[in-house]
Amino acid sequence: MSEQKNGEVRIGVYVCHCGANIADTVDVKAVAEYAATLPGVVIARDYKYMCSDPGQELIQEDIHNLSINRVVVAACSPTLHENTFRGAAERAGLNPFFVQMVNIREHDSWVHSDREAATEKAKDLVRAAVRRVYFHKPLEKRRVPIHSEVLVVGGGIAGIHAALTVANSGKRVYLVEREPTIGGHMAQYDKTFPTLDCAACILTPKMSAVKAHPNITLWTYSEVVSVDGSVGDYKVVVRRKPRYVREDLCVGCLQCIDTCVFKEPKFDDEFNLGLSKRKPIYIPFPQATPKVVVVDPEACIQLKTGKCKKSCLEACVERGAIDFEQKETYEEIHVGSIIIATGFQTFDPRRLPQYGYGRYPNVYTTLEVERLVNASGPTGGQVVTRDGRIPKSVGIILCVGSRDENTNRWCSRVCCMTSLKLAHLIKEHTGAEVFIFYIDMRAAGKGYEEFYQRVLNEGVHFVRGRVAEITDWALDPSEEGKLVARVEDTNTGFVRRIPLDMVVLAVGLEPQPDALNVQRLFGIGCSLDGFFLEKHPKLAPAPTYTDGIFIAGVCHGPKDIPDTVMQAGYAAAEAIALADTGYFELEPNTAYVVEEECSGCKSCIPLCPYQAITFNEEKKKAFINEVLCKGCGTCVAACPSGSIKQNLFEDEEIFSEIEGVLAYAQ
Ligand SMILES: Cc1cc2nc3c(=O)[nH]c(=O)nc-3n(C[C@H](O)[C@H](O)[C@H](O)COP(=O)(O)OP(=O)(O)OC[C@H]3O[C@@H](n4cnc5c(N)ncnc54)[C@H](O)[C@@H]3O)c2cc1C
Ligand code: SF4
Ligand code: SF4
Repeated sequence: MSEQKNGEVRIGVYVCHCGANIADTVDVKAVAEYAATLPGVVIARDYKYMCSDPGQELIQEDIHNLSINRVVVAACSPTLHENTFRGAAERAGLNPFFVQMVNIREHDSWVHSDREAATEKAKDLVRAAVRRVYFHKPLEKRRVPIHSEVLVVGGGIAGIHAALTVANSGKRVYLVEREPTIGGHMAQYDKTFPTLDCAACILTPKMSAVKAHPNITLWTYSEVVSVDGSVGDYKVVVRRKPRYVREDLCVGCLQCIDTCVFKEPKFDDEFNLGLSKRKPIYIPFPQATPKVVVVDPEACIQLKTGKCKKSCLEACVERGAIDFEQKETYEEIHVGSIIIATGFQTFDPRRLPQYGYGRYPNVYTTLEVERLVNASGPTGGQVVTRDGRIPKSVGIILCVGSRDENTNRWCSRVCCMTSLKLAHLIKEHTGAEVFIFYIDMRAAGKGYEEFYQRVLNEGVHFVRGRVAEITDWALDPSEEGKLVARVEDTNTGFVRRIPLDMVVLAVGLEPQPDALNVQRLFGIGCSLDGFFLEKHPKLAPAPTYTDGIFIAGVCHGPKDIPDTVMQAGYAAAEAIALADTGYFELEPNTAYVVEEECSGCKSCIPLCPYQAITFNEEKKKAFINEVLCKGCGTCVAACPSGSIKQNLFEDEEIFSEIEGVLAYAQ
């Protein structure tokens, strides 16, 4: 690579107009003219779009024709175009790290209106970059090899779709699900909006495909307990909880359940949200995958006391699948990348006592009603109140635990559509009058507005206003034995009292209760709402800041099934691309320890947010793993003996930049 001619530093400065984005506020010609006067600058140009092909060619020609060996580009954010200009320099034979970007858009033209002052600021920033780039050193990107195996955590529709996509590309996938079956929330629904196709009909073929896929190892009832390593080579330990039934022997005939000493189901059925009971040995739902029973150690007499006649064992004597001696086991795997798809929990409406959930038996959540309308649910698809009556009037309250300063500020995105779906299904099943209490209806999605119109035409009543309370206090005979929704109808301005037989709370979507632990385990970030943080909200909504770890589905934020599937496919495509490339290029702006100067005080080790620093006991020196280092600079600033340096952020580079920016004051 051509670096320097006779050791001479020859700097080219390129000032971008960014259309009108910069040029309207900054006098770009004046900035270029000023830059041309700075020491070391051989050429300074301005151009309408520096990032365009002709813009990049300008730089490349100057590298060739004028022997430019340092490049300063004054344009937009380096997040967007640093790689563009580094690439242009590299293609012209210059080490890409001899390029320095100056952000005169976000840092200048977009935040100032005084043209003269903005132009002066641009000159200061360019001067700082010119002084800094003088000291840049050539750096090389290092490559780490990538294991082609992929771990998917969470077996809802996001995890299922991601696992199948990766597996279909020929890569080995480990799918880890903590419940006894895959399927996630979608498995609990009867129909899905807006097309009303049956959830099981579209989900269960995918669940079966996961189980049958030769490239997928499915571990249900399992959890990741530790993650070490970095992109390309994550070492993951998975804990497999005992089901007390051998997966390799159980054929799912369910005879053990029939013969269990508990003649009647007695324990809350989690899949039906406690709306029905199950036995200590059970299968979560008929299409559970794998179709293997599980024994609940909190309910099973044998596991609790060791004194059961174990009729289940007898029923299964030929296959011998039941094994009360089963212990938890640990599996260790190496994977190149990880897709996290751990989903959500629904808001607990007990936090809003005014709606009476938990106090009035006939106040339900939308998730519970999903089970009631389901033919394989606790009532066989009949929508009935707790005392077995078919409701004549049902009220659905929207935004319960969403768009509220006191609970969650975000819109849960699916509750409006879920409520429309349930209004339709409740009407279909019962013929009841249905009221929807809303703040505003959000039906943005393909076919969603049309579905809203359909439900409107079906005669569902829409009342605009937040329900103040649900009460059973009757003020007149029409309210006797009913629940009453007290609401200000903001369309008419009247406070109304609407008697109802059943109230349904459209509960919002929240991060899983253990989201913080998962975040720490995998070393990824969370946004303020507690959902996992993507690398870029528009351009990289599945990658995270940790290389090789991707997120998909509602663990990233509320979304419907189509958006979940799209993000899962995108995460899978990223993981496949990584595996197919076979290597990952590390940014060289990492920190390193100058061993002779390290006093071994260890103060840097706990400060690194990426756990990149370890202590070499033999040498008594700190050591930085450059694969894990993200170049945040925390350790560089913290080291009391100044023995940590960072590529691209050496002292002379930073101090020259500071002197450059302050030079106007001289
Ligand atoms: C009442 C209701 C009705 C809805 N109806 C519709 C509809 O009709 N149409 C539509 O488009 N959308 C609907 N949605 C939205 C839909 O549920 C979501 O878009 C979808 O379920 C998201 O899938 P997921 O895989 O991200 O999450 P989930 O379905 O929550 O799956 C996550 C999975 O990860 C597992 N898991 C969690 N933590 C871990 C861990 N640490 N280790 C291993 N596994 C873990 C969980 O057990 C679960 O199996 C509805 C939502 C609600 C609340
Ligand atoms: S454990 Fe045995 S009896 Fe029970 S479902 Fe499996 S094979 Fe059938
Ligand atoms: S050991 Fe007893 S209680 Fe437990 S599952 Fe078998 S029969 Fe039921």
